[in-house]
Amino acid sequence: TSTTDTPPGGRPLEVLRRVFGYESFRGPQQEIIDHVTAGGDALVLMPTGGGKSLCYQIPALVRPGTGVVVSPLIALMQDQVDALRALGVRAGFLNSTQDPDERRLVEAEFLAGELDLLYLAPERLRTESALSLLDRGRVSLFAIDEAHCVAQWGHDFRPDYLALSALHERWPDVPRIALTATATEATHNEIAHRLNLRDARHFVASFDRPNIQYRIAPKDDPRKQLLHLLRTEHPGDAGIVYCLSRASVEKTAEFLVRQGIDAVPYHAGLDAGTRAANQSRFLREDGVVVVATIAFGMGIDKPDVRFVAHLDLPKSVEGYYQETGRAGRDGLPSTAWLAYGLQDVVQQRKMIETSEGDEAHRRMLSAHVDAMLALCETVECRRVHLLAYFGEKSGPCGNCDTCLTPPESWDGTVPAQKILSTVVRLARERRQKFGAGQIIDILLGKKSAKVVQHDHDALSVFGIGTELDAAEWRGVIRQLLAQGLLAVEGDYGTLVLTDDSGEVLGGRREVRLRREPERAARTAAARK
Ligand code: ADP
Ligand code: ZN
Repeated sequence: TSTTDTPPGGRPLEVLRRVFGYESFRGPQQEIIDHVTAGGDALVLMPTGGGKSLCYQIPALVRPGTGVVVSPLIALMQDQVDALRALGVRAGFLNSTQDPDERRLVEAEFLAGELDLLYLAPERLRTESALSLLDRGRVSLFAIDEAHCVAQWGHDFRPDYLALSALHERWPDVPRIALTATATEATHNEIAHRLNLRDARHFVASFDRPNIQYRIAPKDDPRKQLLHLLRTEHPGDAGIVYCLSRASVEKTAEFLVRQGIDAVPYHAGLDAGTRAANQSRFLREDGVVVVATIAFGMGIDKPDVRFVAHLDLPKSVEGYYQETGRAGRDGLPSTAWLAYGLQDVVQQRKMIETSEGDEAHRRMLSAHVDAMLALCETVECRRVHLLAYFGEKSGPCGNCDTCLTPPESWDGTVPAQKILSTVVRLARERRQKFGAGQIIDILLGKKSAKVVQHDHDALSVFGIGTELDAAEWRGVIRQLLAQGLLAVEGDYGTLVLTDDSGEVLGGRREVRLRREPERAARTAAARK
């Protein structure tokens, strides 16, 4: 087939304009579409909101036969198919939510060559009935969406995705395109390996999302801080608020509703009906705020999400970037805001310590959290830091908190030594375990009940730290944890030394710390 022939569905650019109503391709879309249309395999890495769907939808329209899309997002298939049908695309889906009659109808359409796109849940492709159905019709391509599922340890869909490597053996001539928004090199390699895509061309779009303003604020009173953000910068805007636990999702949603904000909760513990209703309000109505665990958002395509807020520290930079990427798909200015504090570090470290899985798995979780902490504590441009994490070089962006109000870095060696010495003294009391609160009370010389009870007012370190206030001490402890100069042990968040603490105590290592801009301003004002 010569490339000058007009394919049956028309040329890609013409399809983009006529069917989807867009003027031009974005980033690498054109190249990907040309490659797959010509029958090539592809591995596509594009940030959330980058425009992955068109990369298989257009080749499916242009090539003869039906494009089979494997997607784990069963809850969204109906919406996706409805949206395509509204554009005049002949689309259908097969999944476990349908009754046999509906299924038979879609199968008949497929066999009659009346479908451009057929969405399937991955587990379907492990059944011989689905495979033989595909044999009897004409498949134009396989699109494997959310392809990182195959590479994620413990992912629900992983076994189904692993089975997809068989597609190539059964249909060696049908091109395959795997798509993901997960960007690390290790994940790409594993996808290519697991899905038998070693000869596929890799397409990597820039992961930059210039319209998103990244901000990470010290956590104080997170719900109040969030409310302030919504009232001052995003009144009436649609947005997503992520919390770690279901309980905190519910409390936060109730709090926002009491404050007059149109907020709804979303987490896996709610019944399916409530979940679907809340998701659909968020998608269809204007200005709804959804408060959710990370169970919410995969595959959600709402162009005008104006902010994504995190009230707890995400477990990895990949997760954070994917979640924040749900903001501003329409390209208009949007905010990614994260509140982060000492308790987050303690909690994450504790969760890893008590997590299931072997030592290697725990080490991996730790490395993920450390990368997230490094992003929080950086004094450089957040975007430079984020993009570098995904292997992209860039210059200061001018549109993140550290670019807009540069934080100072300061020599925190002496305060660090004071904390570490206190930890050493407390460690001598074998049976008793103390967390950050007790250490701060001791440094500030506060005769709290617990200080007096344990005679801690008699320690030589009692009252030696009045140069900082409690919040500042919490900030120093948080940063020492982030830098691996302190560690957390046990269920109570007991602080203990690490292998590196000795260098600081012995004066052989300087400790550089970040001073939050607001705090810096307050300190300067107080000095005047
Ligand atoms: P992803 O799956 O990568 O997260 P989508 O495929 O859902 O992204 O696309 C994100 C949004 O961008 C959608 O609203 C889509 O219609 C829009 N979009 C994609 N490609 C283009 C384009 N070339 N021109 C204009 N809008 C586009
Ligand atoms: Zn910046």
